[in-house]
Amino acid sequence: MKITGVEASLHRIAPASPWEDATNRVQAIEFVLVRITTDSRHEGVGITYSVDVGGTAIQALIADYLSGLVIGEDPLDHERIWERLHRQSRRLGAGVNSMAIAGIDVAIWDLMGKFYGVPLHRLLGGSRSSVKAYISEIKLSPSDTVEALCERIEGYRARGFDHVKIKIGYDDFERDLERLRAATAMLPPRSLFVDLNQKWLLSEAISRAGDLDSLKLGWIEEPLVHHDVAGHASLRRQLRTPLALGESLHSRSQVLQFLTAGAVDYVQADVAFIGGITEWRRVAATAASFNKPVAPHYMMELSLQLLCGAPNAFMLEDVVGGSFSELGLLAEPIAVSNGVATPSDLPGHGIVFDPAALEACRVDPASVRSSFSGGSK
Ligand SMILES: [Mg+2]
Repeated sequence: MKITGVEASLHRIAPASPWEDATNRVQAIEFVLVRITTDSRHEGVGITYSVDVGGTAIQALIADYLSGLVIGEDPLDHERIWERLHRQSRRLGAGVNSMAIAGIDVAIWDLMGKFYGVPLHRLLGGSRSSVKAYISEIKLSPSDTVEALCERIEGYRARGFDHVKIKIGYDDFERDLERLRAATAMLPPRSLFVDLNQKWLLSEAISRAGDLDSLKLGWIEEPLVHHDVAGHASLRRQLRTPLALGESLHSRSQVLQFLTAGAVDYVQADVAFIGGITEWRRVAATAASFNKPVAPHYMMELSLQLLCGAPNAFMLEDVVGGSFSELGLLAEPIAVSNGVATPSDLPGHGIVFDPAALEACRVDPASVRSSFSGGSK
């Protein structure tokens, strides 16, 4: 079997509900879809993404450079293909190239599942047939109130979620504490996760550690700037609450630094940002070596397959307004039911996009120029 074609298209779509966290206000998610065809008529569909910026660069890197390295290869040799793509793009650092490689790599894994006739989670080892999910909201607007937050949590609980993630990181920590006290009162202990999106300095985080520990949170996510290994290690030594991070990392070597420094409890590598399924598996295995669970960031429908394949899976993130299903992109929605998600039994990743919905948000990369005004605070 030989790869004969690689196509990459850019799709720009606003979240199904507005996203705002402590450091960013999101305009759009930029998905790059990769379709790989072969001489044996097997096909694979890959997906990768960026938030707000970089979709055109990812699409161009695949279309202009990486696709040529893949054509003629046997897609079953996914490790060899990944190494070739990584080696060839290494001068770009780690970031856009990892995200571009991910698009191709996910397509190859989808294709392999279809070739072998098994769903992806079984191809990855078949650790479980379903996984627990938490609901994850991205809502920290200045106008949000504690009452509105409590109403939303009631709604999540009514849908069967008993684990919830909320954003904090207002300039006024007392306002964060009001949210946290109200939310933790509505949930079992260790069932509220909080995400700072890198808002705090180490000194701020340490001064707030006692308050945070008293709330019995499930984890504190990205409290500090994402590359601060020593800072997270130092903070972790002063907290009884676990730390979660990894969504902003782009390679297993970056994750390894946090693990060896004792700076992380839950590894949240994102399958698209880390370089695809081939690299995500290595990260999961590395985390397992440190006896740490994985809880991948976003990409709900794909992360579901990964978690059901990984022995050290923790929980699936279902981002409000962000799953392919909620964005209306799927021909067959994949929903979390009563706080539990079950992957499709279709061969491959089982994510079947609706062609008309994809077409409706497809953009010509040239048209993106001058349309972006920035969302960082
Ligand atoms: Mg996060």
